[in-house]
Amino acid sequence: MNILVAGGAGYIGSHTCLVLLEAGHQVIVADNLINSKMEAVRRVEQLTGKNIKFYLADVTDEKAMEQLFSENKIDGIIHFAGLKAVGESVEQPLKYYHNNVVSTMVLAKMMERYGVKKFVFSSSATVYGDNEIPFVETMQLLPTTNPYGQTKVMSEQILTDLAAVHEDWAVTLLRYFNPIGAHPSGRIGEDPQGIPNNLMPYISQVAAGQREYLRVWGDDYPTIDGTGVRDYIHVMDLAEGHVKALESMDEQKGLAVYNLGTGRGTSVLELVKAFETVNKIKIPYQVKERRAGDIAEFYADAGKAARCLGWKTTRTIEDMCRDTWNWQSQNPRGYEE
Ligand code: NAD
Ligand code: UDP
Repeated sequence: MNILVAGGAGYIGSHTCLVLLEAGHQVIVADNLINSKMEAVRRVEQLTGKNIKFYLADVTDEKAMEQLFSENKIDGIIHFAGLKAVGESVEQPLKYYHNNVVSTMVLAKMMERYGVKKFVFSSSATVYGDNEIPFVETMQLLPTTNPYGQTKVMSEQILTDLAAVHEDWAVTLLRYFNPIGAHPSGRIGEDPQGIPNNLMPYISQVAAGQREYLRVWGDDYPTIDGTGVRDYIHVMDLAEGHVKALESMDEQKGLAVYNLGTGRGTSVLELVKAFETVNKIKIPYQVKERRAGDIAEFYADAGKAARCLGWKTTRTIEDMCRDTWNWQSQNPRGYEE
């Protein structure tokens, strides 16, 4: 298939492009490089020995998308092109609503105009809010506490309404849990700009000596050791989930929603320990106050994706820690030379 990967230069997008190319699909990337580097796309081409057709374009720009769709016959779209910094979304809500919701609407318009019938959307476990665990696709969603989460809820709603009227469309909402890790080659990985907010990039910068110590946001949660628990998923497993979702669409019509997680929770201190053991590097940390808006514990019910897509994660927390450090140690400044 000819797949448009919107946001394909980013962390999850670049790994998904690699898996798509290896599975024999053609890849067209549209990315404005607002949070990524062209080097990621080059490295995916090097790793696979295949070409990616790249458009330096903003997905909210309807004219630019018109040009792309008129020049290419697109069979399916994967939409990764979102802004994802929760804190920034609280400070700059309009920027988030515009980027993340308008991009979804522009891509949906292109589907209507150009007869594209397959759409995969990057959603997030954040849409569940502070729900009972494990999170199941059939749950009533609870309010999210930030504009970033709202943009995911809104995009899901828009796509749900569209799937209801376009009976020949297949629309899949993938709710990711916490992606970490990198391609085992260490050539592509997560390249956060500035001080990382997320746990794993922070740990790996502490390991590299770029930060003095990890700040553990609270150790008084009702969890196994008092620290927050998340369902960490290897980015390669996540990427493979997208390809499975796309390839299942010949049989599937209408809307489908899947959790992409492992079904297992890991605490902050368990992740620190695993990283230390696998990579033989000490991670100093200090316990601080809870971070505002954090949920104590969540993980996926991963059963539906296994049943319907035949997809299951195969990589362990140890693989995630080893591959993260492999990438970080080979690329201490990310994609910058
Ligand atoms: P990322 O920032 O690495 O990748 C997003 C890519 O989209 C970047 O290359 C960025 O330059 C591009 N982009 C953003 N807005 C764009 C626009 N308007 N036009 C063109 N390109 C644009 O982030 P990621 O971690 O790869 O996340 C991909 C998607 O998955 C996002 O939608 C994110 O919200 C969602 N998601 C991520 C996580 C996570 O923890 N990483 C969890 C759940 C959901
Ligand atoms: N966390 C932490 N220190 C950090 C970053 C994160 O203790 O520097 C904790 C955070 O409180 C949460 C877990 O690690 O319990 C995962 O946080 P992350 O931001 O990676 O994911 P999210 O909370 O968005 O699921």
